[in-house]
Amino acid sequence: MIYADNAATTKMSEASLKTMIDLMEDTYGNPSSLYTFGQKAKEVLEKARADVAGAIGAQPQEILFTSGGSEADNQAIITAAKLGAAKGKKHIISTAFEHHAVLHTLNKLKKEGYEITLLDVHENGIVLPEQVEEAIREDTALVTVMYVNNEIGTIQPIREIGAVCRKHGVLFHTDAVQAVGHIRVNVEDDNIDMLSASGHKFHGPKGTGFLYAKKGIRLVNLIEGGAQEKGRRAGTENVPGIAAMATALTEAVANLDAYKAKLTPVRDKIIAGLNEIPHSAINGDEVRRVPGNVNFCFEGIEGESLLLLLDDKGIAASSGSACTSGSLDPSHVLLAIGRVHDVAHGSLRLSIGEDITDEDADYIIKSVKEVVEYLRGFSPVWRDLVAGKGQFIL
Ligand SMILES: *Cc1c(COP(=O)(O)O)cnc(C)c1O
Repeated sequence: MIYADNAATTKMSEASLKTMIDLMEDTYGNPSSLYTFGQKAKEVLEKARADVAGAIGAQPQEILFTSGGSEADNQAIITAAKLGAAKGKKHIISTAFEHHAVLHTLNKLKKEGYEITLLDVHENGIVLPEQVEEAIREDTALVTVMYVNNEIGTIQPIREIGAVCRKHGVLFHTDAVQAVGHIRVNVEDDNIDMLSASGHKFHGPKGTGFLYAKKGIRLVNLIEGGAQEKGRRAGTENVPGIAAMATALTEAVANLDAYKAKLTPVRDKIIAGLNEIPHSAINGDEVRRVPGNVNFCFEGIEGESLLLLLDDKGIAASSGSACTSGSLDPSHVLLAIGRVHDVAHGSLRLSIGEDITDEDADYIIKSVKEVVEYLRGFSPVWRDLVAGKGQFIL
């Protein structure tokens, strides 16, 4: 079995799992309790906060623990919207290829009277700082642009976009769920005001994540209750999960260079192999992408069938994002970079992890080639294209 869907979720690392289990067994006190049992849990929590902060160049007090990336995205955007509205600013800039945690939050705000500008994405899957600058207005409350796209893996020029926002005095949030633990991220160097991350995308547990908010930003509380997290998120803290996330992140960040050195050649080998398939194309810039992401379109086939047949061959991959699979709509990300519906339907995302071997890469290439050829064999769309009825796009 080859697991090539690490952008959907990752396996917990051994160290992370051990942290979690040990704490569940021994350190089950409530961090808000004053006796030693609780204070031990509190120490673990604050150590995790310092470790997470250190991993992204932040201060511990700038880290708020959440249930994951979605919650962090919601809280960051709603905070900026409320702060903006208080100053009469109700315009928000984002992009057409964000995760739904961002897009759906923006939709909700739109219904509440905010004006949302979604920037087009260049066909290479990169948003330009100039586009952001052109869209900024007097009443812009927030710019939110993802660090790495979850489907096509392209890395955005976040530092430059952040600099544009600083220049114009506009808050800047980035959904860095696919970046943190995969490439180097530093909130100071990258001019970031708010950042979302998720534990289960870097070999930590599901249901964990964090929001970085630069000192001075008063976060709007989404959950009422106790005074945990300085009153910014009520509810007894998930101490074992949070500490396990911190363990996974510390490990991932210490290992970033080796991760890149190991995965990049394997990724490029798979890209070269899949490029040999006629009427296929990579989605997103070939170079400016995270080490683990390969995303292709194959003309004349259905992504879902491709996935099921790859599953039969022992390969776990994805088409579009996990959230849209099961629906007949093609991926909004692929549409945003200009793929037409028919082509966008025939997409494949392989997100490889560090356990991948060279033989795995060979097997993936061979299997995808076989399955694409097999599916095209009885695809009416493909038959028409070959017969000259209609134009090949790729
Ligand atoms: C997975 C993901 C999320 C959601 O994170 P959860 O922890 O699953 O809520 C948000 N944004 C991006 C880019 C993601 O890949």
